[in-house]
Amino acid sequence: MPQKKKIDDGLFNRTYSMFQLLRRLPDRHISEEEVAGLIGVLPPDSANSLQSFFKPSIQQASRAFIAMIGTVLEETRHARERGKKVVLLPFNFPPEIVHSFNNLAPVTTELLSTAATVVLEGQGERYWDYVLGLGLPDHLCSANAIELGSMLSGMDYEPDAIISGCVGSCDVNAKSHEFVSLLLDLPQIPLEKPTMDFSDGFKYFRNSYYKMIGLLEELAGEELKEENLREVSIKANRCTELYYDLWEMKKHVPNPVPGIFSLLICGTRFAMWGRDEGIRTLEQCVEVSRNNLESAAYRSREEIARIVWVYLSYYYDFLNFYDWMEEKGISNFGDALQLAFPQTIDLSSKETMLDAMIEMAWNNVMTRQMGASSMARGWTDDIVYVIKEFGLDGCVYCGHHSCKQTWSAFTVTRNEVLKKTGVPILGLQGDSWIRSMTPIGVIQEELEQFINNVVAGKRRRRRGKASVL
Ligand code: SF4
Repeated sequence: MPQKKKIDDGLFNRTYSMFQLLRRLPDRHISEEEVAGLIGVLPPDSANSLQSFFKPSIQQASRAFIAMIGTVLEETRHARERGKKVVLLPFNFPPEIVHSFNNLAPVTTELLSTAATVVLEGQGERYWDYVLGLGLPDHLCSANAIELGSMLSGMDYEPDAIISGCVGSCDVNAKSHEFVSLLLDLPQIPLEKPTMDFSDGFKYFRNSYYKMIGLLEELAGEELKEENLREVSIKANRCTELYYDLWEMKKHVPNPVPGIFSLLICGTRFAMWGRDEGIRTLEQCVEVSRNNLESAAYRSREEIARIVWVYLSYYYDFLNFYDWMEEKGISNFGDALQLAFPQTIDLSSKETMLDAMIEMAWNNVMTRQMGASSMARGWTDDIVYVIKEFGLDGCVYCGHHSCKQTWSAFTVTRNEVLKKTGVPILGLQGDSWIRSMTPIGVIQEELEQFINNVVAGKRRRRRGKASVL
């Protein structure tokens, strides 16, 4: 059990330093010996994730991702001296519109919490403890509470404004950001999603989005320019094209897209959609997956099961999560955070580009499922779709501790998915960002039993082929 640590520096500052260090590694393939040397000097928590990230088979993609996150942190850190303002976003808010302003720099709360959990010694625990020490309840979502806790400690950078984009899709998230905005006196820019997912609801959302643009223009001190929107939209379209290339490749058996890429895809969606760095990360993911698809050795791998995490997965122990599943032959299709369904932006006019961005915000992760008129229906429809698209055998609900709203719809969703597809969902208990909630060994054991005792039998019957771990 890790020791509790006092906060002596902010999460942002520490994560920034770590990424700047990683960006200084030579711009070439890092050999296994060199990785071993690097791992040897890193603290154990950082070594765990980086050992997984620097595996030769995926290194070209993970290094592009590290460079991309390094750029996000660098642009945030130096925004003010470059005359820009930093806008903090929740993960369900697509960043393209903010990238379209010359004077704004977006940064995503949950991206910071996750990056810290991945690279910092002690992960995000000391910031989480700080939040609880303030008297806030432990049913806050650690996804955002970790970073917001760091900000509240007074030892971290502060943004210039917050986009409140979770109203109507996650009250916990919306309230956590509101609390920080009140305490630190930061303006909130609202984007409201009504819980009506038909045309009147969309009209309301569209109006709210246009009002938000007006407030962003005031904050930036500039008008949103059509040429900027077009430049970002062209790049966003390229990201979308690559996203669907990966989607199509996942239909192959065995799945050539490594499980850890789910993290890279959603990190790109949350932070750098519409930027060159985002394109580069996705291009590298496509290249690695395409090589796998063309490799006879990769194609001969046995795939014991094809599973998806129906909402979140776990982000604190890469070796015992992504690498362990790969070794066991469990093909991990990632989690619902990739279910963003981006679309191609019509570049004809400012209005067509904005319309597409508004639709993508409306259809983005969490907003689309948990902000639907019926949460269980919105969620079930997407999971059924994914099961059919990829021919999955099993699903897992990670039981993220704070996520009371998905917990409230889980049983209905599980029953509906089983009824419509015959595919079972394992319900676990844990926290996606806090390792002390459920040890990873317990999660592995439960997953293994589920695959052996439930999925394998169904898979045998469906495919007429025996397979056990
Ligand atoms: S994981 Fe659950 S609690 Fe956290 S932001 Fe998403 S919906 Fe909200």
